[in-house]
Amino acid sequence: MDRRPVLYIVIPCYNEEEVLPVTAPVFRQKIRTLAEAGKISPESRVLLVDDGSKDKTWSIISALAQADPVFRGLRLSRNRGHQNALLAGLMEATSLCDITISIDCDGQDDPDAMGRMVEAYLDGAEVVYGVRSRRDTDTFFKRTTAEGFYKVMKWMGAEVVFNHADYRLVSAKVLKEFAGFREVNIFLRGMVPLVGFKSTCVYYERRERIAGESHYPLKKMLALAFDGITSLSIKPIRMITTLGAMISGVAFLLIVYALVSYFTGNAVSGWASTLIATCFLGGIQLVCLGVIGEYIGKIYLETKARPRYVISERTTVHQDPQDPVPD
Ligand code: UDP
Ligand code: MG
Repeated sequence: MDRRPVLYIVIPCYNEEEVLPVTAPVFRQKIRTLAEAGKISPESRVLLVDDGSKDKTWSIISALAQADPVFRGLRLSRNRGHQNALLAGLMEATSLCDITISIDCDGQDDPDAMGRMVEAYLDGAEVVYGVRSRRDTDTFFKRTTAEGFYKVMKWMGAEVVFNHADYRLVSAKVLKEFAGFREVNIFLRGMVPLVGFKSTCVYYERRERIAGESHYPLKKMLALAFDGITSLSIKPIRMITTLGAMISGVAFLLIVYALVSYFTGNAVSGWASTLIATCFLGGIQLVCLGVIGEYIGKIYLETKARPRYVISERTTVHQDPQDPVPD
């Protein structure tokens, strides 16, 4: 007899007091609908992770958990960023459930794709990536920068599923293996594929944020791309080698030019080329040093092996999770 899987919907929340009261009931309803359809166990839960919010997010989460056992809350001791908050939730859920679905709390990702994700899991996939089929509701700027982000990542050797953010189903089996990935610089959407196991994609349309503002302006997106690339790929270092070879070729030609100038008696006119070469090489060297420094910085952080997050509080778990769910 097959057992219905216990689903945990894991939602990182940072300063989402405007959004949470609107979207939390949507997620609760989703759990109910899926449980009534017999796809998931009625013991499934919504796990809200407060990423050190400065507004009323945690009191909203506590109130939700108080009123309805379907909600559970986890609070980080300070803001650790989307990826760490999500990881904290996933690791917390691993021992409690069979499958997790991670989703943002702003209502941009269509919760209806969850049903299809669970079906794909029941068909044998251990990881199901939610992929945005269209981005019509995003502004032109957000759309181009976001799509450019995936292209640059790929070009730099960091394989990611195109147009997939962090809306995905991951089974507890995969998460248990994932717990062994001890790195501190985490980029979940690039790391989950590294664990392996059978995976598939589910397509959905991305909507507009219900309220509040995006926490991923261009600056943070660039930082995420840079983190993703340097965490997953050493292609930038290889590119330095290629660049170094090319510059050596140019330098060789410059030497020949300098020698010819010297023997033809035009040495003084070489001042300009010397200056250009010095500046050019100086610039390139600095860029290269910066990139290498970035990796050394990562090694430094990894060797410290600091905990990636600290949990400060949990909502109390109701004694009987089968309690009738109040409205
Ligand atoms: N988030 C978080 N910690 C942060 C920033 C964001 O937990 O430091 C959460 C946020 O509450 C949301 C999700 O991560 O649920 C995605 O953030 P957002 O919607 O602002 O990003 P976008 O969808 O615009 O890329
Ligand atoms: Mg969003």
